[in-house]
Amino acid sequence: MKNIILLVFTVLILGCNSKKKKEEPISNSHEKNDLSDSPLFNTEIVEPTKLFDNIYFVGYEGVGAFIVNTTQGIILIDAMWTNDDAKNVIIPGIEKLGLNPKDIKYLLVTHEHADHYGGANYIEKTYKSKILMSEVAWNSIHDPNALVLVDPFGNKSSDLPLPQSYQKVGDKEIISLGETNIKVLLTPGHTKGAISLVINTTDNNIDHDVSIWGGTGLPNTLEENKKYLKSLDYFESFAIKNGVDAQISNHPFVNNLLDDMKLLRLRKSTEKNPLILTTEEFKRNIDTALRKSVIEKINSYQ
Ligand SMILES: [Zn+2]
Repeated sequence: MKNIILLVFTVLILGCNSKKKKEEPISNSHEKNDLSDSPLFNTEIVEPTKLFDNIYFVGYEGVGAFIVNTTQGIILIDAMWTNDDAKNVIIPGIEKLGLNPKDIKYLLVTHEHADHYGGANYIEKTYKSKILMSEVAWNSIHDPNALVLVDPFGNKSSDLPLPQSYQKVGDKEIISLGETNIKVLLTPGHTKGAISLVINTTDNNIDHDVSIWGGTGLPNTLEENKKYLKSLDYFESFAIKNGVDAQISNHPFVNNLLDDMKLLRLRKSTEKNPLILTTEEFKRNIDTALRKSVIEKINSYQ
């Protein structure tokens, strides 16, 4: 019987302002994981929130999905833990925002952990949406020896129904729909198949470019952490070159997104969008929430 190896959830807490941490990974364990106090496992539903003119968040306080609405349909980014999450959280969230889930043309999966692809099967089956992910991520979710995660409801990722087909996204590929272009970078580190994104959007009709870093938590080997740092450098310089002035995470406890969403839900149209950053602030976020920790971890191996 396959070992159940649980993710090192502590590392997902990097950069968050939150709650108690689990200090040790639980590995090679067949026991139900006790991570109920980890922010990742927080299944409190967030009020669906508009972040920019056409980008929205739906999901839990622990993990969620982004909706990018275009004139030609919706690009959904990530699918949460399970088909039930897709059906009972993402879809009602989309409807509550006044959008139509039948418009989901693409589901873009940021990486091969169950909290991001678990509902992909439901989205594909119900809306005939195309699943987009890196080749490495696709192969990994279909690998019988892949890491098995246990979700907050006790389900094993190895039991999840998987999407049937996909379209591969590669480095510097651009996913275009309507007026939206999502630039994809392959950024292995958090997982081997992780991607990061830069999305053009507007806020009160003013152009902005939003970035999503593909996976916060640090991996568990020196080699993987070095890859993480290299990918982070690549992502940061690409983002700055492409005029990125906002950063959002599909784990909303990272970088204060939960607090920012509270402000956004009450925001008057004349008020500043709290997600918009200067280049210096963006660089500082990358340094304090990510780079500092990965360098510390690399140094801890030496
Ligand atoms: Zn992950």
